[in-house]
Amino acid sequence: MHSGYMQTPETFYRLHHTGAPAFTADNAWSAPWGSSFTDDGSSYTCVACDGTGEQTPEIHESCDGQGCHHCDDGMITECADCDGDGTLDCERGYSCTWDAAGLVAYFKQQHATPTDDMGTIYVFEGEWTGDGADGDPLAVPTKVIETLTWSELVARAESA
Ligand SMILES: [Zn+2]
Ligand SMILES: [Zn+2]
Repeated sequence: MHSGYMQTPETFYRLHHTGAPAFTADNAWSAPWGSSFTDDGSSYTCVACDGTGEQTPEIHESCDGQGCHHCDDGMITECADCDGDGTLDCERGYSCTWDAAGLVAYFKQQHATPTDDMGTIYVFEGEWTGDGADGDPLAVPTKVIETLTWSELVARAESA
């Protein structure tokens, strides 16, 4: 038997959009706000080049346009953000918050007003994997505790 102190699992809150891939650990990948995911969901379209991997050619400053091993002929044509791939890897874990009030505040900060049919609020136990691009925690779910509507979440946040 495993004995000793009880470990309290972390609890997280997330709004999971209607129509998004199922809320599972396998699908728990994140990208910055407003990004569009690629088909397998583990990477997202590079915003800087709009997925083309190219940028408007400009003179490579390091070699002053002479050509070097970082550029072909003194010009940079590859998108620096994605190294010419057109996509960037997502971060492991769902973007979420530590409590109900935090989730409501997060959407306020993005100037977004969710409605009840926009998605489902998942209250879940999970494994914290780090902080996302927006400064919010990322977590991989291990167990769904309950689901709420947006209105129920707001009511909970206000009563906390
Ligand atoms: Zn160069
Ligand atoms: Zn790019």
